[in-house]
Amino acid sequence: MARIAHLDVDAFYASVELLRRPELRGKPVIVSGSGPRAVVTTASYEARVFGIGSAMPTSRARRLCPHAVLVAPDFPAYRAASAQVMELVRAQVEGVEVVGLDEAYLDLDGLVAPRAAMRRLVEQIRAHTGLTASVGIGPNRLVAKVASDAEKPRGFVVLSREEACARFAAASPGLVPGIGPKTVARLEAMGITTLGALAAAPEGELVVRFGANHGRDLRLRAAFQGTATITPVRIAVSESRERTLDADVGDPARQEAILRDLAEQLCERLARQERRGRTIAIKVRLDDFTTVTRARTLAATTCEAGVVAEVAVALLRDYAPPRPVRLLGVRVAAFAIGDPPVTDQLALPL
Ligand SMILES: [Mg+2]
Repeated sequence: MARIAHLDVDAFYASVELLRRPELRGKPVIVSGSGPRAVVTTASYEARVFGIGSAMPTSRARRLCPHAVLVAPDFPAYRAASAQVMELVRAQVEGVEVVGLDEAYLDLDGLVAPRAAMRRLVEQIRAHTGLTASVGIGPNRLVAKVASDAEKPRGFVVLSREEACARFAAASPGLVPGIGPKTVARLEAMGITTLGALAAAPEGELVVRFGANHGRDLRLRAAFQGTATITPVRIAVSESRERTLDADVGDPARQEAILRDLAEQLCERLARQERRGRTIAIKVRLDDFTTVTRARTLAATTCEAGVVAEVAVALLRDYAPPRPVRLLGVRVAAFAIGDPPVTDQLALPL
């Protein structure tokens, strides 16, 4: 049963900051850029008490907790800490798929006593780096991922698929990776508000609503059916969404709303496949068929709709279409599984 572990460092960026600035311990700390559209990359657990979470606009976080200490992200420091953590992981486990600076899936097949080995690993990470991590163990990636998140910080949760179904039956479908807010809203409109209800929903209804592949996939995910493949290599591909508009659109706010919608759809799929990209591009076709693309490459990869949408909208504003548009598209490219994730493009050199 214990085939896959998901290891996730607790409040990683904030924890690295607290290690070198111990005077901040016990205080609400937010790691964030400072621009007007900055978002929270990580909040310490003291800050989370105020309802602050990753990807939230920093302006909102400051309103929720005016006395929070704002720290600018220091990605070189996070990469160095990540390298230390992953070195310890690789010393213990052969099959390691790094999916972010502070996150990895581990293949436990072949380990004699996988749970004991994971406990040892967490203790080693703490002793060598001062960082705490949470571990989820299960028969597949989906169970492992949700389990690692269930009792953070310092969580250690081992679940069979059946136990995961029972434990999270009353949780929102959005708990499961790859089921994004838009899908959650559409499910709610169908009267499906829990993972238990989604797992038990008639497949036909889901297929009618979401199409054959996505409909079936949703049901499988809700039942914590997933793959147990660990891929230590990097995969490069690209993914895009575009929409030809029913009528030409000249209103910038409406154009931006369409881009945000496309980004959301695109990222939901990327998240489901655990893929990330670092180049974000838009495609704009004007009513006279002039077609323009604009792209920006981030310092690190992302699959977050908020980040992709912000970059897409910024590219659109820079271009400022001179005529009404008839088609809009968003692309995320140059995927590299194992690259560090980015949640605050404004803090990074572009
Ligand atoms: Mg983490």
